Amino acid sequence: MPVPKRKVSRCRRDSRQANKGITPKGFYLCPECTAPLSPHQACMTCGYYKGRKIFNTSMDRALVRTSAKAAIQETKAAKEAAAEVETK
Ligand SMILES: [Zn+2]
Repeated sequence: MPVPKRKVSRCRRDSRQANKGITPKGFYLCPECTAPLSPHQACMTCGYYKGRKIFNTSMDRALVRTSAKAAIQETKAAKEAAAEVETK
């Protein structure tokens, strides 16, 4: 039968035992977008924390950009239509 070569020191033994009580961290689902979250963390998917919008995500910024572009194109089209009406 194999026998340990050396005595395990108190320090080494206790360091090993220190990890016995560790339990995996819990998580919960974001109430806004149902993404899994660690406790006390803002949601990186939607930017909400405790039901309040804390920061704009990259998707929010992209939506603002596309809506601004669409608004500019609409005004350009309206100006061109008005100019055509005036020339006729
Ligand atoms: Zn979220």
